[in-house]
Amino acid sequence: MSTRSTSPRPKAKGRAPERAGLPRRVLKFGGTSVTGASRLDVIERVLRDRMERSAPIVVVSAMSGITETLRRASELATRNEAADLLREIEGRHRGAVQEMTGGDAETSEAVEKLLADAGRLIQGIGLLGECSPRTLDQVLSLGERLSVQLVAGGLRVRGLPARPVDAAAVVVTDENHVEAEVDFAATEEKALAVLAPDGTVPIVTGFLGATKTGERTTLGKGGSDYTAAVLGWAVRAEEVEIWTDVPGVMTADPRVVPDARPLRHLGFSEVLELSHWGAKVVHQKTVRPCRDRGIPLSIRNTMSPDDPGTLVTPRAPASKMGPVRGIASIDRVALFQLSGVGHGSESVTGRFLHALDEARCPVLLLSQGCSERSVCVALPPQWVRPALRAVEKTFALERRAGLLDDPSVEDECSIVAVVGEQMKDTPGIAGKVFGVLGDKGVSIRAIAQGSSELNISFVVRREDAQTAVRAIHEAFFGAGSAAADVPDEVAPLTRSFAKGAAGPLDVVELATELLAIPSLSGHEHAVTDFVIDLLAARGWEVRTQPVSAGRRNVWATRGLGEVTMSTHLDTVPAFFTPRLEGGKLYGRGACDAKGIAAAMICAAQRLADEGESRIDLLFVMGEELRSDGARLAAELPATSKYLINGEPTESKLVSASKGSLRLVLRAKGQEAHSAYPELGRSAVDGMVGLLADLRRLELPRDPLLGDTTMNVGTIRGGSAANVFAGECEVEIMIRLVGDAREVKEGIGSLVRDRAEMTWGSHIQPQRFHVLDGFETTTVAYTSDVPILAAWGTPLMFGPGSIHHAHTEEEHVSVEDLRSAVDAYVRIARALLQA
Ligand code: ADP
Ligand code: ASP
Ligand code: MG
Repeated sequence: MSTRSTSPRPKAKGRAPERAGLPRRVLKFGGTSVTGASRLDVIERVLRDRMERSAPIVVVSAMSGITETLRRASELATRNEAADLLREIEGRHRGAVQEMTGGDAETSEAVEKLLADAGRLIQGIGLLGECSPRTLDQVLSLGERLSVQLVAGGLRVRGLPARPVDAAAVVVTDENHVEAEVDFAATEEKALAVLAPDGTVPIVTGFLGATKTGERTTLGKGGSDYTAAVLGWAVRAEEVEIWTDVPGVMTADPRVVPDARPLRHLGFSEVLELSHWGAKVVHQKTVRPCRDRGIPLSIRNTMSPDDPGTLVTPRAPASKMGPVRGIASIDRVALFQLSGVGHGSESVTGRFLHALDEARCPVLLLSQGCSERSVCVALPPQWVRPALRAVEKTFALERRAGLLDDPSVEDECSIVAVVGEQMKDTPGIAGKVFGVLGDKGVSIRAIAQGSSELNISFVVRREDAQTAVRAIHEAFFGAGSAAADVPDEVAPLTRSFAKGAAGPLDVVELATELLAIPSLSGHEHAVTDFVIDLLAARGWEVRTQPVSAGRRNVWATRGLGEVTMSTHLDTVPAFFTPRLEGGKLYGRGACDAKGIAAAMICAAQRLADEGESRIDLLFVMGEELRSDGARLAAELPATSKYLINGEPTESKLVSASKGSLRLVLRAKGQEAHSAYPELGRSAVDGMVGLLADLRRLELPRDPLLGDTTMNVGTIRGGSAANVFAGECEVEIMIRLVGDAREVKEGIGSLVRDRAEMTWGSHIQPQRFHVLDGFETTTVAYTSDVPILAAWGTPLMFGPGSIHHAHTEEEHVSVEDLRSAVDAYVRIARALLQA
């Protein structure tokens, strides 16, 4: 591939972070990640990075092993034998106060209080001689309540504004102690209030909740991951990050298969499937809230925080490693088989499953052999007895008549599952799996293929399980396999484009393909890889420019760049799966800007096929966030005279666009009891008066662009209704139609000493080149164009409407998409002739 790397020059100075209106992001740190000072250094580093562009919420588990120790302590406490364990818990946490916070007094006090609570609870259990689920939840809650104090204290000592939050005040559950269900609506309301952005970083206890009446509950296994997902769902986070002790979701459990490899990108259904079949790195219930709101979920490694980890999104692109994504196993199951001759009119299988269902037996796997008139299920071992009772009851008649044999139960079995969304399109996988097992002499007790066709699962004897997992892993991922040494990256040209690199490009197909690959700002790797491969395969010389870890601007040329077509490949959240409906193509980025990217690629390719070598393509990262891609692309040695920039303009050429200017106003007051106006002065009151005056200020008007407009985006200040506010701060964004100076002077002369003014980022209004024969328009939004001045005289054109961009109904009409290809070709030709 003719890809080469152009090294970046020093980064342009980024603008100051804007606090309010920042997207939310949830980061969960597991037990191993909150144990020890070195881990805290990692948490601090990651948080400082995330705080530049989001308002993070942190969720933490108890320190490693503490939940289990608390569980055992409450058991032993019924016999007054928990003293040793209690001492162990005290010792570990007191040590951690020293190690993580250097003995911070505030943390120490909070920790001692919780340890005293632990002592009292254990003593109480001893007096009663029993531990109810309600009491157990109170004991278990202490692990996380202690760890949030340690983490928040440690971060505060390091200068981060962290505050501990007890999730009992946020996560509302039912009364099912030890395994409570979350009440999503009630939790959403509380989360939005308690976790509202206030400049601090909430450090929230994972695993915990409370009933409506305020009784403590816990959420069961994997509860802390679940808390992170629930909170991410509630605040509509841009991403949920799960930080743990492995490099992401791997091709197999690394404890079983030492050379298991990390997976870069998975679909929600693939992760659900892997975790259902025992990959405990993320729990199934963690995936669902994220999937429901299309929130990307990533799994990251605290041991190597710069690794990309695994990104989970609604649909994963095909991987170069092939259709098999992972192998998981459930260590202990029992195989329960029912057989006999007596099928009457009513199916034995139907009644059998109904009986199991009524007894609430969780059926892990089902397989039916018709000729033998037998059916078998795999169950967790503790469910064998209830299953036997259910069968006795349901088939009493048949049993007495000798029509059914005794159910046979094979204990000590395991389930092994091979998972991958694209396996169903690939023949021969089952054959290979069972061939490998045959070679190893592993006999298969039962087989099922998931109805979702996402897995092939089978039951083996427990003693064979590890052999089976390792052998299958070796066959699909080991040395000599097709995936050996192939990184888990997007496989390009696998679907509609497999027809051959030279075949004609269809803009709708290409746009659909781009839309199917999630590419939130900061996560553009996969879509970028796809575009690079597509262009390289069609004879483009593709240069890439690193933007940040794994992200690259793409510059494709045929040698003589005179006209560059450019847009961005990132999108805003939330991703949704593309669909064609009523002549419209829906998807995140359909109009902003992947439809545009597809139309540009098709137009440039058409021109190239005609022998034109003066067209370049430039695709940048991060336009929706900080334009970090464009800022770097500005420094590339561009040769082009014209830049056709793509944004949704309803297929018109833009003649001019408004600029923008940010302003923060801060007013100071004098705090005092609000009953005595003579004692104080309210900053809020002063600011409200000032804003009213600002509203009346005459601002410049331009014949083409219209009015200067102003939005007061946020107001903060004051502490209570009966106190004069000591401070008030507002953030204003102005849309400019001319020079900023006039606006700054007008506002400055009005504000004077009524507030402190801080002017923020400023983008000039922009004039664009237009061409005869095209409708023109003006737009009020800004783009990467002013940054990309070095790429030539700018034009702006794109199908789709800005009114649909960034909405849940984002779409572009197929007709507009197709005519945009023709339009880009016409524009380019006109510019080349000029
Ligand atoms: P935490 O305490 O951070 O929540 P867990 O112990 O719950 O961590 O989950 C991480 C563990 O999951 C890893 O140490 C690993 O042994 C196990 N695991 C099982 N299957 C997989 C897999 N397919 N990929 C990665 N890890 C796996
Ligand atoms: N402290 C609980 C546990 O370790 C929470 C969690 O699931 O992470 O099991
Ligand atoms: Mg976990």
